[in-house]
Amino acid sequence: AKSQGGNQASLFEQGYSSRALHFLELEQALRKALDREEFILNFQPIYNAFDGALHGFEALVRWNRPGRGMVPPDEFIPAAESTGLILRIGDWVIDEALRQLSEWRQSNRFPAKLTVSVNVSPFQLANPNLVGLVRQLLTKHHLAPSDLLLEMTETAFMADESRMQATVKGLAAAGVGLSIDDFGTGYSSLAYLRYLPAKELKIDRSFVAGLTTNARDEVLVSAVIALAHALDMTCVAEGVETAEQLEHLRRLGCDQVQGYFLGRPVPASALAETWQE
Ligand code: C2E
Ligand code: CA
Ligand code: CA
Ligand code: CA
Repeated sequence: AKSQGGNQASLFEQGYSSRALHFLELEQALRKALDREEFILNFQPIYNAFDGALHGFEALVRWNRPGRGMVPPDEFIPAAESTGLILRIGDWVIDEALRQLSEWRQSNRFPAKLTVSVNVSPFQLANPNLVGLVRQLLTKHHLAPSDLLLEMTETAFMADESRMQATVKGLAAAGVGLSIDDFGTGYSSLAYLRYLPAKELKIDRSFVAGLTTNARDEVLVSAVIALAHALDMTCVAEGVETAEQLEHLRRLGCDQVQGYFLGRPVPASALAETWQE
């Protein structure tokens, strides 16, 4: 990268073409992964901040890529989005998360009102078929719309905002819970609150990380909680890693908490082994 003068262009092109190749390989591999069912979901618990009751689980996708181990979502969701494969992957994630919730319901191991939260890409929200699909999958798994929460963030590249608004309103009208993820970052801003009929707001973990050390973060978290409550929304803090952060969030009146301190994302099979009510 430190090369000078004449070499620079060719090095850039080399870098570019190897990136393009890498991307093509990734696209091919993602297509196969869908057919071969190489995706799995991990589940991370979300608790009531005050009584510690289990509220639900957030489903987080991983790719069990042959020969490469577990690939985290940040390494393949962007490629899935730019190839359009995110629609098929996203459909699978909703189907599988609801299937799992339905299985848990039948096991009676968890609270009866347990919910499942699923992350949806803006590209899924731009797809008008999403509302019908979600309804169909809820029926398939004998679940109520309020059993499901869809977590959404805005991205800088989201082009078709009016289509997205229509989908989001359709989901809310169907009774599905909407959650604004990563609130406070560039991707989820105040503008969202003006039209999104969301019932939940998730404070980004970067604010939680600074809570006990940075007075400004405390002011911001406290303001976000007040904002959520003034809008009749539930406030969830993600990325809770220490007892101090948890205590602080409770004191500030945050409703729900999630993070490594309380439970890491794990496959459903691991939950079945460790969870004793
Ligand atoms: P997110 O929705 O903000 O999810 C939270 C991320 O923080 C997860 O990373 C989770 O494992 C991690 N996390 C949870 N607790 C803690 C903590 O206490 N400390 C720290 N440092 N991290 C914590 P993960 O699973 O790698 O997911 C990354 C992102 O990928 C998610 O961020 C979400 O935006 C996206 N994603 C995950 N699953 C899906 C999916 O099914 N569909 C779509 N479209 N995006 C997904
Ligand atoms: Ca999320
Ligand atoms: Ca986040
Ligand atoms: Ca995110």
